[in-house]
Amino acid sequence: MAMRIRILGSGSSGNCALLQTEQARVLIDVGFSPRRTRELLAEENLKPEEIDAVFLTHEHGDHAAGIASFARAPQVALFANAATARAVQDRVEHPLAWKLFETGSRFRFRDLEIDAFAVPHDAHDPVGFRFSTGFDGDLLAPRRSLAWLTDLGHVPQHVRERLRDCDAVVVESNHCPTLLQADHRRPWSTKQRISGRHGHLSNEAARELLASIASPRWRRIVLTHLSRDCNSLDAVERMLATLRPHLDCEFTVVAPGGNTPFWDLA
Ligand SMILES: [Zn+2]
Ligand SMILES: [Zn+2]
Repeated sequence: MAMRIRILGSGSSGNCALLQTEQARVLIDVGFSPRRTRELLAEENLKPEEIDAVFLTHEHGDHAAGIASFARAPQVALFANAATARAVQDRVEHPLAWKLFETGSRFRFRDLEIDAFAVPHDAHDPVGFRFSTGFDGDLLAPRRSLAWLTDLGHVPQHVRERLRDCDAVVVESNHCPTLLQADHRRPWSTKQRISGRHGHLSNEAARELLASIASPRWRRIVLTHLSRDCNSLDAVERMLATLRPHLDCEFTVVAPGGNTPFWDLA
């Protein structure tokens, strides 16, 4: 096992993934209630205090609502940048064991190397991550990298450059513009926010991103954070049909509220 990952939940009802390496067992975002977080971890035979670290992309509830699960587990390192930590801490009674990083920096946690890079989204200081482990040319521990990219309205060049050298890319495919416009439950201003430059990637934006890079190194693409009301598996599959001929890798689409089995980047 160089790196294995499983998405425990995806979408506006909560986002959380479990990533494991030889030396680390970490969560990427923790967007469920503390109670639900415990249940999801229990399905993995884990308790919150058995997690080594949590990495937060931004403070929105669907990414950070479960952080209080770790209030009594000071040994769990809670990684966030200062603005995100402040916004999340304001909502939690107990002081939390924050490990602050600078957006744009690269740092290590056990056998993981983490790149945290800015993404355009309507939060205080939202980031995407690249998690890497192992070493180039090492047969026993080859370097493996995973990019984590949700909650962004568009994809700046510095983000695109982070994706090329990855083995797996998890990227949001949030909405279908036609279904978003037809939605009657969201006010116009919300629709503008979702589709705006600091909102979320549409299916088409995800397709453009993947097609424009089309790295031969990619082995798996995971499409996530699908909107329940403003997207459909059919719409995402139609988009994927135009990509598959150009990309020789596995595709996984995570249904709204859904999860994935573990997959290995061995
Ligand atoms: Zn979100
Ligand atoms: Zn968000």
